[in-house]
Amino acid sequence: MDLSQKIRNIPDFPKEGILFKDITPLLRDKEALKEAIVKMADMFREHEIDYVVGIEARGFLVGTPLAIELDKGFIPIRKPGKLPDEVLNVSYQLEYGKNEIEIHKDAINKGDKILLVDDLLATGGTTLAATQMIESLGGEVVGCAFLLELDELSGREVLKNYKVKSLLIS
Ligand code: AMP
Repeated sequence: MDLSQKIRNIPDFPKEGILFKDITPLLRDKEALKEAIVKMADMFREHEIDYVVGIEARGFLVGTPLAIELDKGFIPIRKPGKLPDEVLNVSYQLEYGKNEIEIHKDAINKGDKILLVDDLLATGGTTLAATQMIESLGGEVVGCAFLLELDELSGREVLKNYKVKSLLIS
């Protein structure tokens, strides 16, 4: 199946000038969803992985089924104030303003091998912040997996120290 047909372009969302990549048609189609998850798993099946870490919110939609497909557990990275136990917080710069993400301090043990997942790689800022958080807890990022990569934003360059694999490139 041509999975790229299942991603819808929505102009000027959430604000003017942004072409939003809407993955809900892919999620809604059981065959497309299954194929996407199996193929994303195939990209990292040969790697030694202990946990899949996904970034809120669409990283959960892709990351949790990916963890099941790889027979691993799932660890969430969330927006501030959502995780109930002690957290590690990282803030990072966006084009305009800043953003913050959090992870439970006890979610990752020293030496854990982590596959980091999000739906979409744009500037790479979010994923880079997530790698810093995982590493400061002693984890090792063995790869970063995306459903879709926006080529023109060069997020891959920002993540040049990591093995980055995307199922679709746009
Ligand atoms: P970035 O930190 O710039 O790589 O942004 C990645 C995060 O923002 C991902 O979690 C995406 O879901 C979201 N995102 C950024 N740009 C877009 C876009 N054009 N369409 C849909 N989601 C986007």
